[in-house]
Amino acid sequence: MHGFGVGNDGVKILGGNDNDDTSHPLYDSDAEVLSNMPTEGSNRLLAKKDDVFNYWMLYNPESGAKLRLSFSEKKETPTRSSIPELIDIKVTDYCEMGCKFCYMGSTKKGRHASWKYLSGLAQLLGQSKVAECALGGGEPLSHPDIFNFISCLRSAGVKAVNFTTRQLDWLSDPQSVQKLLGENGCFAYSVDDEKGLDRLHKAITENGYTIRHPSGYSRDEKAIRATAQYVMGVLPEDKFKQLLEKAKELEISLTFLGFKHTGRGVHFKPHDYSNWIQILKDSGYWHARIDTALAKEFEKELLEADVSATTFHTDEGRFSCWIDAVNQKIGVSSYTDLDKMKPLDKIPDTLNQYADNFDPDAAKKYLSTKFMSLTSLPLL
Ligand code: SF4
Repeated sequence: MHGFGVGNDGVKILGGNDNDDTSHPLYDSDAEVLSNMPTEGSNRLLAKKDDVFNYWMLYNPESGAKLRLSFSEKKETPTRSSIPELIDIKVTDYCEMGCKFCYMGSTKKGRHASWKYLSGLAQLLGQSKVAECALGGGEPLSHPDIFNFISCLRSAGVKAVNFTTRQLDWLSDPQSVQKLLGENGCFAYSVDDEKGLDRLHKAITENGYTIRHPSGYSRDEKAIRATAQYVMGVLPEDKFKQLLEKAKELEISLTFLGFKHTGRGVHFKPHDYSNWIQILKDSGYWHARIDTALAKEFEKELLEADVSATTFHTDEGRFSCWIDAVNQKIGVSSYTDLDKMKPLDKIPDTLNQYADNFDPDAAKKYLSTKFMSLTSLPLL
């Protein structure tokens, strides 16, 4: 373990034992503690070397914790991966909800990705040793082959398969819960007001489960990893504050997404959310996650608010990518213009070129530390 810190005085790995609960002598209460790091003791950890960019990625699918490290004498921080570590996949453009701000523009007329394509994609991602997939849409649970697709991804070796949904009825069926979440799955429920949080809480607790924070550990088989996801600007400030209060009351983790001006988002005028960081601080909301779009929009403000640069990055496509399985295209993010995406109709070979347009030098200024960058944002 000492190898992690060699050559980097800013990193300390504190070992310990479970015989007593005294602090390690090198523990510094002012230091940033990365408590959700992958740890030994779990047999589900993934260690994967990126030979092209010469770094190791440690990933714990139980908590989503991820650590990138290099043993290079040059102390270079990884700037990107040769194969995406995380892939967002749009499995359908069908959705009945009709949200006015939907940046996908999904409707009841939306198409599903073909099963033939999805099954081939699962094999490709497995062969490419992709660690994590996040399924979205449209409404991914409306896809008739969603169970099969998730099962194929897991069988192919993808360690964690997560999804976003507006549906909760599957929580009343234990078999569906097992098929959708398996051992490491996590889901994000989209909310656009505090009542959504009530619905999520009720659906989980009334079916005999508890809510587990996406980054938290639990040995309780009834603890479900769930988060609520909210698009910034959908609510006016007072309602946004109510949402935070409700999340605190119900102990639900929120993921905030930057507003995207695509799809129906082109015509939706978002409420001013420029003060969201201060509102979060004032509310005492304990833990938030944000997407890259929001981090990019508020990078300066986040740094001014003393949010560590080790906890977020602002460039899409460095370690992740987006596959639109409906239109069979690949791009850096879910709001990339369709005509700027590359075809992924003949699946082989395209995946490791996903970030060809990406400029590693430009990305360097956004790097987190000499060794590591995290994908989640413990904000406060
Ligand atoms: S935002 Fe989500 S839930 Fe709403 S219409 Fe779009 S895909 Fe459906």
